[in-house]
This record gives sequence, C-alpha cells and structure tokens, in this order.
Amino acid sequence: MHNPKYCLFFDNHTMAACPDVGVDFDAAAFSQKLSDCGVDLIGFPAKCNQGFCYYNTAIGIRHPSLRRDMFGELVAACQTRKIAVTAYFNCGLSNEDAIRHPEWNTISPGGAILHPDIYELGWVSPYIRTMCVNSPYRDYLISMILEVANKYPVAGFLLDSFNGFPCICPVCIEKMKAAGIDWRNRKEVETFAHSSMIRLAEDIVAALHSKSGDYLVYFLGLSAQDNIRLGSYLECECLPTYPCWGYDHLPIMSHHLRTLTSDNRSIINMTGRFYEWGDFGSIRPRAAIEYDVFYGIANGMRPNIGGHIHPRGSTQHAIFDRIQEVYSTAQLNEEWYDNATPIADIGIIVPGEVDKTPSLIGVTRILSELKIQFDIILGNTDFSRYRLLILPDAVPLTPSLAAAIKTFLDNGGAIIATGFSGLDQTGKKFALAKNWGIKHVGECKFFPAFFQPLPQLANGLPDIPLALYERCIEVVAENETEVAALLVKPYFNREWDGVYTNFYLPPDKKTNLPLVTFKGKVAHVASPIFSAYHKLASVDLRTLFANVLNKLLPEPVLKVSGLPSFGKATITRQSGRRMVHLLNYVPELRGKSEIVEDALYAKEVKVSLRCDSFSPTKAYLAPHKTPLALTRENNYASVIVPEMHGYQLIVFE
Ligand SMILES: [Zn+2]
Repeated sequence: MHNPKYCLFFDNHTMAACPDVGVDFDAAAFSQKLSDCGVDLIGFPAKCNQGFCYYNTAIGIRHPSLRRDMFGELVAACQTRKIAVTAYFNCGLSNEDAIRHPEWNTISPGGAILHPDIYELGWVSPYIRTMCVNSPYRDYLISMILEVANKYPVAGFLLDSFNGFPCICPVCIEKMKAAGIDWRNRKEVETFAHSSMIRLAEDIVAALHSKSGDYLVYFLGLSAQDNIRLGSYLECECLPTYPCWGYDHLPIMSHHLRTLTSDNRSIINMTGRFYEWGDFGSIRPRAAIEYDVFYGIANGMRPNIGGHIHPRGSTQHAIFDRIQEVYSTAQLNEEWYDNATPIADIGIIVPGEVDKTPSLIGVTRILSELKIQFDIILGNTDFSRYRLLILPDAVPLTPSLAAAIKTFLDNGGAIIATGFSGLDQTGKKFALAKNWGIKHVGECKFFPAFFQPLPQLANGLPDIPLALYERCIEVVAENETEVAALLVKPYFNREWDGVYTNFYLPPDKKTNLPLVTFKGKVAHVASPIFSAYHKLASVDLRTLFANVLNKLLPEPVLKVSGLPSFGKATITRQSGRRMVHLLNYVPELRGKSEIVEDALYAKEVKVSLRCDSFSPTKAYLAPHKTPLALTRENNYASVIVPEMHGYQLIVFE
C-alpha cells in the first residue's frame, strides 16, 4: 500500500453548464508541477458530486463537454513521475444520475425529493438531490468503482458523502418493514440510513478486495471507528476557515486519531489552499497553510492540501507556488517526520463519539495552552500508557469503565474528574465512591457559584471569589479527603423573582461546600470547568486546573516557557530521538471568519524534556542541525531556542 507523505486533493465538482472542461489540461505539465512540490499522492475525481465522470467510462456519465480521458491521462503522467493517484468518487451525491433517475433519489422523512431536510443549506447547495443507496444506484456505483480499479493503476479510493441520508422511498420502506423498523420514527429511519451506508461501504470493500487488498480506502462521512474497520487509513477533513470546522476541530481530531493507529496506518490531515469548498478565487496566506500542515505533522499526521483546478484544466502556477513554498519547508525536516509517533502523559476520556462539545473544546484548549501532552481516547482504550486520565465535565462511569479506572488507580495512575464525571449511570452516586472520597448530594443550589482556593491551590490566582459560570454539583467530603477549594455562595441566584431580575450578582459568603477535593490520586472539581472555559475562557479557571494538575503530575514529559499561551508544543518519537515541535501562530476572528496571516516571532524559548527511559546527550535545531547547549536540572534536559518564527523543530538525541 502506498505510504502517503505529501498529498494534494483536487475536489472538483463541475457544473453541467461548463462548456470547455479539460480543454487546457496538459497532464505532463500538471504532474511535473506536482513533482516540483514534492507531492507523492494526489486525490483526483473519477466521478464528482454532480454525477459526471472524468475517465473513459462505459457505465457512468462523462461530463458533457469533456472530450478526453482526463483522469487516465493524469494517472499515466503521474505514474512516470512516481506519484500515486487515488480516485475520488462521490457516493452519496450524484446530481446528473438523480435527474435521469428520479427513483434513485432519497425521499426525506418530510416527503421531499428536492432540498431534503438534512442540513440547513438552503436551495443552492450540492445537497439539492441525494442518492438512495438501496436503489439500483447502488450496483451502478459499485460497477463504476470496479471499472476504475480495472482500467487504471490507482493507489486507492477516496469515497465521499457517506452521510447516511434518511430515506423513505418505497425500496427503503420495504427493507425497514422487513427488518421490523418503525419507518414513522425519524430516529429509526436515520439509524437505518446509517446502516445502509455501512452496508454499501462493506460491499465496496468486498468488491475491491477481489481485485487487490492493497488500496488506500477512506469513507468520508463515516466515523473514525467505522473507517478503522472498513478503510485502510484515516483522514481528517478540516478547512479551519469554514464555520462547521473552525480552529478547534483539528486539535481535537488529531489528538484522537493518533490513538487509533497502533497498526501504523497513515493519518492524513486535509486542509485547503482556499477559504471554503467551491472557492475558486483565493489562496490562503503562507502562514495559514503552514500552520495547518505543521500542526498535523506535530501530531503524527501527513498533510493533504485540498483545492480545485480550473474546469479547463489549466495549470495555475500561483497555486502551485504557494504549495511548493509550504511543502518544501516541511520537506527539509522529513528525516525527523518519517514514522514519528506522538508522546502523551494524559488521556482525556470521551464517552461515545469524539465531537466538538464545549467540554472537549475547553479541555483541549486548556491543555494545549499549558503545553501538556495528551491524547483524546474512548473508554475502551488501554489506559496503562498514561500517567493521568481526565474525565471532563460529564463522563458517566459504566460498570466496565469503572472497572478499568479502578485497575488504572490500583496501578498507580491519577485521575482528574470535573463536574458530573465519575457518577454512575443513574447520575445519583459516584461509581467509585471510595476512591473519589466524596458523596454526591445533588445539583448545587447556588447559581452561579464562586470559589476560593485554599493556600495549596492558590498559586497565581487573584485573592477574590472567582466565578465558575456553569452549574456545579454539591458534594460532601469524607474525613480523610483533602478539600482544596471551597464554594462561595452568591447573595441570590441569577433569576427572575417575579419583581426583580437578579442580574448583577456579587458573591456573598464562603461556604463549607467543596469545589476541589483530593483523595489519594483522585482529584474532583465539582464544576464543569472545561465547558465554562469554552464559554468565557476565564484564565483563572485554567490556572485553577493547572494547580490541580501540578499536584498529581508534577513532572510532565514536556515543559515549555517563553512561548505565548496560544503557541503549541508537542513531542514525537523515533528510535533514539525525540522531536519537539513548537508552533507560534494565532487564528484571529476577523468579522465572521477566523484566519491566520502571520508566523509570529518568539525568543529565548526554554524547552525541557523529562528524562525517563530516554535521556538525551545532544540537542539541535532542525533542519540545519544547529547545536543547542543541553543543561540538566533534576529530572529534565533543557535547551533554549534563541529565536524562532512560526514553526521550529528541536531534536533531542
Ligand atoms: Zn431509499
């Protein structure tokens, strides 16, 4: 199987009205540009979401103005330059097929064929028609995928729009009735639609396996877990300037996906050269693309820059120049990226699917700002590789998760639970009450409550009652449990009392209700502080968390000072060396969109690496191997980076 390093993805969907598709396409010149950029893998449409094919097909519909085998010419030209090509197929959307075969369209639970009530996208959207994968479209689609597999030496397939559009067409109704599914119940129809997409994916994989077991295969729209089972690599699609992703998506997904690849499968980080899909008229600043590319690499992912080529197929040099600037900078460091895997002290447990919830955004931001190394994991992960687990805000303990956490604690691990985390599935009592050392009383009657730390947690916090912003739980500490911060009650709750609205709400008196407790190696914070951080980004809450963390993990694997709070720091590992990646960029909210424009300057950045099984004897700056003086203090080896712009890689050997 091809092992991707530097990828490009041409997400072309060409409207029927374009009169001159491919007329300027020069496969040799185009692939030479790819080669100049050091690209080893491209994704290119075999069939787009408009339902048009770009290869010589005897089955599908070629774009009406395309007069050549654009896809085939590209594959052949790339082959001579040792560039692999994956064939893109949109599976869930195929507009021209939907027009020609109305019986292949999904009928939404609301009865609509046009503009199904899937997303709030309005009328002008690629989702104006969606395909029912239980209709004859299914076999037609699979036969096209096999047609490409048979005709062209492709490295794999990128299969898009596996969203699972709920459908009540006669075929789906019949299948649901046979399976005893209540087709009047929207939730059940959605579950059935998802299982229909899974069955389609299984059938595509089975069909491809009959050709060769060696394809890169990924299903966009299916979860990472489904792709682990059905696909052969992982991919994170994220245009950070597009509101549905933003700059919180990649940090969360990268810290999660990197935990799913114990079998060494590749993880691709797909960003874009422009601001949104369908945007033919922009190239983001170099620093913006660089930030996405380096952020992924710093987390063990390989970069993929998405874009469109002009329908005429002309080579737009300015676009390739920008890609070349970014990729050639990264490629100087390739020897330190190849097969490097991230290191983490901490596992953040997520119940169910990893998503951009307020608590997960909050905890990811807080740990990143503190330069702490962490993974985002599911409850069934092997916890033994971590020193500490965080249960952010609302992680209930099922019997199996409670048992795994008990074993983790018995083996010397530490836990920080916040808010409702640690309660059993009834939500009434702590599942491991003995270990937690506190009793659950119920929801705290004060809202919003404030807090005051005791001296052991007061470092860096202002000496006033500090706001918690979210509703806490009320707990009672057992005798041997240490209470390290107390709730301060407000005069009254923030509410309408029938005459007055109690909006301006000062703190009143300190209570004896605990906010933070420690029992052995379990800390509990009775407030969902990560969701609160997502709401208002109170730095005091981050400081409180840092003080709790410092008591349980006084020696994190990496310490960094001199880099701003928004700067990122991660560690990766290769045999015999550790690489520290520093990123100094800041996404700024400009009007409605967040953007990065500048690579920022930093100086005298101190980087300290904990010496455990690995104890370095030298350190240098990549790529020129500029030596750095290595000093030893206690259990750490430290260097000072004199100055840096944007991204800097430091190597310890
Ligand atoms: Zn259907």
